[in-house]
Amino acid sequence: MPLDLENAAKERGIKYFLISYTDLFGGQRAKLVPAAAIKGMARDGAGFAGFATWLDMSPADPDLFAVPDPDGLIQLPWKPEVGWLPADLYMNGKPVAQAPRNLLKAQIADAARDGLQMKSGVECEFFLITPDGSAPADNADKQMKPCYDQSALMRRYDVITEICDAMLSLGWKPYQNDHEDANGQFEMNWDYDDALITADRHAFFKYMTRSIAEKHGLRATFMPKPFMNLTGSGCHAHVSLWRDGRNIFADASDEIGLSREGYHFIGGLIHSADALAAITNPTVNSYKRINAPRTTSGATWAPNTVTYTGNNRTHMIRIPDGGRFEFRLADGAANPYLLQAGLLAAGLDGIRQKRDPGQRLDINMYTHGHTVEGVKRLPLNMLDAMRALEGSAVLNEALGAFVPSYLKLKTEEWNAYCRHLTEWERETTLDC
Ligand SMILES: [Mg+2]
Repeated sequence: MPLDLENAAKERGIKYFLISYTDLFGGQRAKLVPAAAIKGMARDGAGFAGFATWLDMSPADPDLFAVPDPDGLIQLPWKPEVGWLPADLYMNGKPVAQAPRNLLKAQIADAARDGLQMKSGVECEFFLITPDGSAPADNADKQMKPCYDQSALMRRYDVITEICDAMLSLGWKPYQNDHEDANGQFEMNWDYDDALITADRHAFFKYMTRSIAEKHGLRATFMPKPFMNLTGSGCHAHVSLWRDGRNIFADASDEIGLSREGYHFIGGLIHSADALAAITNPTVNSYKRINAPRTTSGATWAPNTVTYTGNNRTHMIRIPDGGRFEFRLADGAANPYLLQAGLLAAGLDGIRQKRDPGQRLDINMYTHGHTVEGVKRLPLNMLDAMRALEGSAVLNEALGAFVPSYLKLKTEEWNAYCRHLTEWERETTLDC
């Protein structure tokens, strides 16, 4: 039985519900619904004009309905009288195929047909910056190698612990918080879970972090590369695949503890990596994080090549220990639902086609990448990635109507970017 939201409101003191969905560009859209009206909304959904958000719809389309998932209810820890509800989108009584949460659920259902369940965790890096967005907010945070800086972390104790306390109260099992490799950059980790639960939490984490930072007079950004000289914000994903409650990526007989299925899944990610980048690295700015020159700390910590390795952070995929791997390509702009859907679609193809991931490379890719022949590089910009997605038989087949809708909107975005005249062009071309 799904949770009765009307009763839950009475029992928990919820006065309003935020019926929320995430559009194709990762924007969270919502209606604020009084508890007195939740019964009908829980059944029929909250109405929206789909064209008004990034979903590839027309102004002539009928109402779009966001039907809340009661299992995803989260009371805002900083305002408990509001209950946040992730929603699935419907039009004319049918699920909207390209809607990110619907798309992920379709991939999860596809995996379930083979008895498989993906579990994942995400590492959301973010910066705390000034409200105008121009610089890291902490003027004393100036170290060249600021990673794990104890003092810079503790100067943000009030913000970080308010977010961590919130995750503790929500039962997410957070276990560590740190200052990351760029000035003003932080990361907070909580336990992995089922891919849909992780995607809902990832979406909520971004909203929560921005909201709590604002309360403290700061701005939180997940932008992949807000400062050219500093390490960018990744969103590393740790992935395992389960059958009947057993992690089928674990194999103690393998040299680094990964099963044949695990290697095939990685083979799928390697096969589709350039197309997948259009989803996991979805902005113009994303490509300034990967393929970047060395930062002031000494390393970008972002991959440039379609390669995998053992416990080594210079490749696209790292296998830190048995039974899982870390996908290091995705960045802070990745849509929480599309990230998981893309990983699952490409990985399942790897398993079904028994894709060979090729040879594991244990070298430092930043310094010795040039010594290996035939290594595929990641797309150099968003347009390259979009073209790869357009040409990807695997992702077009698995993700269906999502791909043309997404590419249509992303092409408009790319064109808008190209119409923007930069200072760099003027400086380098005025005297041509
Ligand atoms: Mg990190």
